[in-house]
Amino acid sequence: MTQRTPIIGGNWKMNIDLESGMNLAGCVVDGVENCESCDVVVYPPFPFLQAIESVIGSSSISLGAQNLWHEESGAFTGEVSGSMLKEVGVTSVLVGHSERRHILGESNELISKKVKAGIEEGLQVVLCVGETLEEREAGETLLIVLAQLEAGLSHVDSSRMGAIVIAYEPVWAIGTGKTATPEDAQTVHAAIRSSITTGYDSNISEQTRIQYGGSVKPENATDLFACEDIDGALVGGASLSADSFTAIVTAARNS
Ligand code: PEP
Repeated sequence: MTQRTPIIGGNWKMNIDLESGMNLAGCVVDGVENCESCDVVVYPPFPFLQAIESVIGSSSISLGAQNLWHEESGAFTGEVSGSMLKEVGVTSVLVGHSERRHILGESNELISKKVKAGIEEGLQVVLCVGETLEEREAGETLLIVLAQLEAGLSHVDSSRMGAIVIAYEPVWAIGTGKTATPEDAQTVHAAIRSSITTGYDSNISEQTRIQYGGSVKPENATDLFACEDIDGALVGGASLSADSFTAIVTAARNS
């Protein structure tokens, strides 16, 4: 069986001030020191990227951005391109986070353009997918998630799949304290992997990392990471505490 290195992302969203962010990043660096068996990425707000980069420096923590725009440059007021992100040390970018889909109205089509732009820029792209509560209750979880996956990957050929990470984040579990049971999450992760096998091949699907996201905390991380197709987590609220975040990283390292 393929051994996939787990990946833990800390999505700070639009939280924290600069000083607290720098302290948090410093504590995360100390807490996960020389983390070889797990990839760790923090996603601070745009204005703090350079400052956080100066804190994580040459540590094993990577710098991520929460979004990008798909054009290289031009008249796109308020937007930030992949090349700009790279210039300040970003190596990973979230695309299609549910808050961008549902609050900012991002469509599958826009998201697919952003995924393409990110990988063409040489960034790791974390494609977020997930169903709403309404969709789940209507029995449409796999329909929605696999449609988001297929659309998001529509411009990604096999040679670029190494740059892709999938984050399955049921919308009803994000920031609510509700978590999918490990069994439910595993079912969706397995379906995602199987869809990647169909779209690409089994070698690529076995190597693609699929994170779970939605109220992950130290208390539930171990059970989630024990599932065969769960390769880490995208963490929101619990990433704002260095203790919680590093405990989740430790759970992933031990999984
Ligand atoms: C997220 O922002 O991607 C997330 C999963 O948030 P939380 O952990 O707070 O549910």
